[in-house]
Amino acid sequence: MSKPTLSCFGGVGYVTGANFLLETETSKSLIDCGLLQGVENSDGINADKFDYDPATIDFLFITHAHIDHIGRVPKLVKDGFKGVIYSTKETKELSRLMLEDMARINESNAQERGVEPIYTNIHAEQALNLWQAIPYHESKKFADFSLDLFDAGHILGSAMYKFTFPSGKSMLFTGDLGNSPSPLLRDTEKIVGVDYILMDSVYGDRNHEDHSERDRRFKEIVNEVIAKKGTLLIPVFSLERTQVLLFELDNLLESKQIAPVSVFLDSPLAIRITAVYERTDSEYNKDVQKELSGGDDIFRFPKLRMTGKVRDSMQIANENGPKIILAGSGMSTAGRILGHEANFLPDPNATLLLVGYQAPGTLGRVIEEGAKQVTIKGQNIPVRARIEKIDGFSAHKGSDGLVDFVADTKDSVKKVFVTMGEPRSSIFLAQRLKDELDVDALVPERGKRYELDL
Ligand SMILES: [Zn+2]
Repeated sequence: MSKPTLSCFGGVGYVTGANFLLETETSKSLIDCGLLQGVENSDGINADKFDYDPATIDFLFITHAHIDHIGRVPKLVKDGFKGVIYSTKETKELSRLMLEDMARINESNAQERGVEPIYTNIHAEQALNLWQAIPYHESKKFADFSLDLFDAGHILGSAMYKFTFPSGKSMLFTGDLGNSPSPLLRDTEKIVGVDYILMDSVYGDRNHEDHSERDRRFKEIVNEVIAKKGTLLIPVFSLERTQVLLFELDNLLESKQIAPVSVFLDSPLAIRITAVYERTDSEYNKDVQKELSGGDDIFRFPKLRMTGKVRDSMQIANENGPKIILAGSGMSTAGRILGHEANFLPDPNATLLLVGYQAPGTLGRVIEEGAKQVTIKGQNIPVRARIEKIDGFSAHKGSDGLVDFVADTKDSVKKVFVTMGEPRSSIFLAQRLKDELDVDALVPERGKRYELDL
């Protein structure tokens, strides 16, 4: 019998675009099918043909609902995939919202540029019809392997997939690994006894500020804005970061560490995603579950307004301070944040707070680097607002957390494939795993087929 093989068609050399193929004698499984983002010509690359025939793929396993892990799924279906898609129930629900939004953006971008969209909502719908949910910790049997899902602690519904073969040997695909302890989620589960790991390395070469420092600075910035009756503008990612910030604000208000303040959640997608988070209860960590069972509405507080409608969004600028505005996109590349930035960046009484990674070439990165003037929708906008950054809200493990994760299973692991990072980050992590744990680790080459002793 021939051995299973692994080929990486995305998520190597880049953080984004995760796409891994696991082949056995009788089946072909993909793990994630993400969009490449923040890279030159990513639109062209995303529209390219797949490196394999989608019609020959039996299964697609989705680790979590971030667009760099699911963004090409409708294209896979459009190009002939007829297999089954699996994920946790939460990931399926969140993917529906993310893909509908992505299809809408695709269609409007394509119209602007006079080209065909890479897919439409019809293909997203077709993908969702092929999609089935699997719970964590319920072993599922396939013809030539069995599968177990473990909590990755990264975002709601995020899962690691462990494939166990008839030999008893196993391989783990981590997806993105959470920056545990998370304010909301359970910790990343400890994994032992696996033979191979394919893992994330976004922060393979650096660590985050610690959680207490993060919370202290967030409270300080909010209190300063309240004291000077200013505006706090926070560009946010709709999935996870928004909900973590709402949860933190709710806690600060309840414990009276900040005074009541108007908060606007100004993103239709983030509002829809927050509703999914509100419908969930058993997937959170123990402290959050305790708050929920005590009847606390963890994402809602008295002066929060969710401005889904454009008309309500337009009114925000006329509201007197102090106020906090959460709006997308997280890197200020599109969305309602742009209008708020045009309004408030010239205001010396305003503060813009960055809470996530800003890719090179984005407006967020230009602001982060201290530009005194920026261009928004063709208009020159002077920057007089205060610019702050808190990096500890990251949903990704830092370098030490990634090494600790592998350390738990170092006695059994034969090889670690280090992926989903910038080259510098992946190479650094692979070297740390070799030096500190004496584990064989490598950064795989794109498209190369690796035989696995499974
Ligand atoms: Zn992610």
